[in-house]
This record gives sequence, C-alpha cells and structure tokens, in this order.
Amino acid sequence: MTNCYVHKEALSVGTCVSCGKFICENCNTELKGKNTCKKCVDELFVENLRKMDKLEDTSKAQQPMVFMNAGGGGGAASSSSSGSGDLARDPVYTKSKVVAGLLAILLGTFGVHKFYFGKWIQGILYLIFFWTYIPALLGIIEGIRYLVLSDDDFAQKYDKGYRA
Ligand SMILES: [Zn+2]
Ligand SMILES: [Zn+2]
Repeated sequence: MTNCYVHKEALSVGTCVSCGKFICENCNTELKGKNTCKKCVDELFVENLRKMDKLEDTSKAQQPMVFMNAGGGGGAASSSSSGSGDLARDPVYTKSKVVAGLLAILLGTFGVHKFYFGKWIQGILYLIFFWTYIPALLGIIEGIRYLVLSDDDFAQKYDKGYRA
C-alpha cells in the first residue's frame, strides 16, 4: 500500500480523482461521492468563485430584483424627497464600507459580507467551503481591501445602489 502524499507516515485510503495522488483519511474529502484531496478542493473553490463572479456580473442586468429590494429602498426614497435641488446632489450610499469590512474580517468564513452585497451565489459558495481555510483568508483580505478604499471607490465597486 502506498502512503499519503501529504502525510508520508499515513497509509492512503485512495487516490484523489482530480490530481491522482494517494491521500490518507485526513486529506480525503468526499465531493459528490468521489475522493478528492484538500488541496484540490481548495483549488476548486477558488476556481468556482471566479466563475461565479463572472456569472453574477453578466447576469446582473436580467436578474430579477428580488434580492436587491431589501437594501435598495433607501436610495429611491431619498432621491424623490430631494425635489428640485438638481445641481449639487449628495451621493447616495446604500452600503457601508466599515460594516462590509468588519463583516468580511469577522464573519468572512461564512460569506456574510457577500450576502451583504447581494452576491448571494458567492455567499453560498463561502458557506459550502467554510471548513477550508480559504474563505476565512479571503474574507480578511477582502475586508482590508474594503477598508483601505476611499468611500467613493468602495461604493463604485461594491454598492449597487450607489449614485454619485
Ligand atoms: Zn488532489
Ligand atoms: Zn494525508
């Protein structure tokens, strides 16, 4: 019997369907009934995240607005109440940079900041993979990225209800 490619001292229980290497009980993750090693699961996660990001960006236009309604209400109300003051309109923010940053850093493992932005597909992906270290790590990186951006840069990138 061959040993695990990560743990040289542990006997392998099978091979990873993705990379074909021998993996022990510890490294084995059953993904849809197939053995996959942790490294490949992590890679799969990052790859999926990239796909989902593209998917959400391209489908944003024709997506039903059910998920955005909760956060978008404030924007509509304030623009109708401002009346005829048309030249110097205050920018409308519907998402807080600080809230998003803290959510990402503290609860990023569970994708809470993605749900906050209305990116629920990504959020669910974080939830599914929360037991790997990747979502927690990404959350901290993203949280810091939100916090170092200026309010306007942040709003332009992440706030769907933002009006400059
Ligand atoms: Zn593998
Ligand atoms: Zn192992």
